[in-house]
Amino acid sequence: MTTTIHVDENCLFCKIVKGTIPSFKIYEDEHTFVFLDINPIADGHMLVIPKYHGETLGDLPDDVLSKLLPVAKKVALATGVPQYNIVQNNGKLAFQHVFHVHFHVVPKPNEKEGLIIGEQNWPQKPLDKDALAATAERIRNKL
Ligand code: 5GP
Ligand code: ZN
Repeated sequence: MTTTIHVDENCLFCKIVKGTIPSFKIYEDEHTFVFLDINPIADGHMLVIPKYHGETLGDLPDDVLSKLLPVAKKVALATGVPQYNIVQNNGKLAFQHVFHVHFHVVPKPNEKEGLIIGEQNWPQKPLDKDALAATAERIRNKL
């Protein structure tokens, strides 16, 4: 297990973990911290973060990353809302605003609250098998 805790003194979420910035804490263990999002898109919108500071997913060691999803599952089930989304943004273009990895757990109690995905923000392309084959080949070759 990665025991060295990486902290960035200037990072908002590192300060929340430390307690120097207050939050509505939901859960904490050795590696993970969960708190309410300050501007929720649904009641119970939470952020699940590693105590280890990494800006995006690729900056986290696998053993740190592997602790996060079981916690996201646990707190998602605790909301009592059976339908929900888990969202994780990486990079400015991809709508990340706070550069400490976080998984949004967003309850979906009804059509109006929570995550809304329409054709405009999920711009699907028509099926193109040649393009898919080339993409699959390109990514497999980088693994
Ligand atoms: P992102 O856009 O980076 O995926 O998500 C960042 C989230 O952090 C946003 O949903 C935003 O509301 C939340 N957030 C930003 N600042 C604070 C804060 O000081 N406290 C809490 N609890 N949430 C914050
Ligand atoms: Zn941080």
